[in-house]
Amino acid sequence: MGKTSRWVNRRATHYIDSEAATCCHPDCYKPSFEDMATVIPLCEEHVYVVYRQTNQILGTRTGVDQQYELLPMEAEFIPGPCPGCGTTGLLVGLANGIVECRAGSCTYSQERTKFGAHRRKLMGIAAGRRSVVYYMRLGNRAKIGTSQGLASRLSSINPEDCMTFELGGRALEQRRHEQFRHLRVVGEWFDLTPELVRHVNDIQVVPIPA
Ligand SMILES: [Zn+2]
Ligand SMILES: [Zn+2]
Repeated sequence: MGKTSRWVNRRATHYIDSEAATCCHPDCYKPSFEDMATVIPLCEEHVYVVYRQTNQILGTRTGVDQQYELLPMEAEFIPGPCPGCGTTGLLVGLANGIVECRAGSCTYSQERTKFGAHRRKLMGIAAGRRSVVYYMRLGNRAKIGTSQGLASRLSSINPEDCMTFELGGRALEQRRHEQFRHLRVVGEWFDLTPELVRHVNDIQVVPIPA
């Protein structure tokens, strides 16, 4: 640390030292993630974005992405889309019980139980009467099931969180159960491992404004 190097991108010149490094992503001037500053200055969000993309590339090329564990910072994030902006995997649960979005200029911030209720409601509205495969979380377990009325399904199960859903019926559900067979605990319940968290975060659900 303390060594000064210079990074240039098309927008600006970033002078880097361990005190004042800013993220080198265009238009992002958040402080660099401390341990990264002297390697490549990226903020916490963009370290995570690069890490995810790298895993995806390596996984596609080699089929071995399961060997990558979640980063500690990634593990703090709540899987699934932000109810405010739709960005996946960038909601963080703070020690004071607040859930906050770390994506760009998103200002979503909500008390944890309200967040759970809020996301259940939004997911129910977004799914409507369409046939979906849903991912519900209870502790470190995830239920993968199918429904044609997600809102009423959610109120009967009342999970801590409805992480996400994808459009599809029984055939897709069977495919997902097969895909994550090695994580199965019982019935439709699976261990919420890094592999499953990444799968949830790769699904894009367009949020419906409250
Ligand atoms: Zn950044
Ligand atoms: Zn957000």
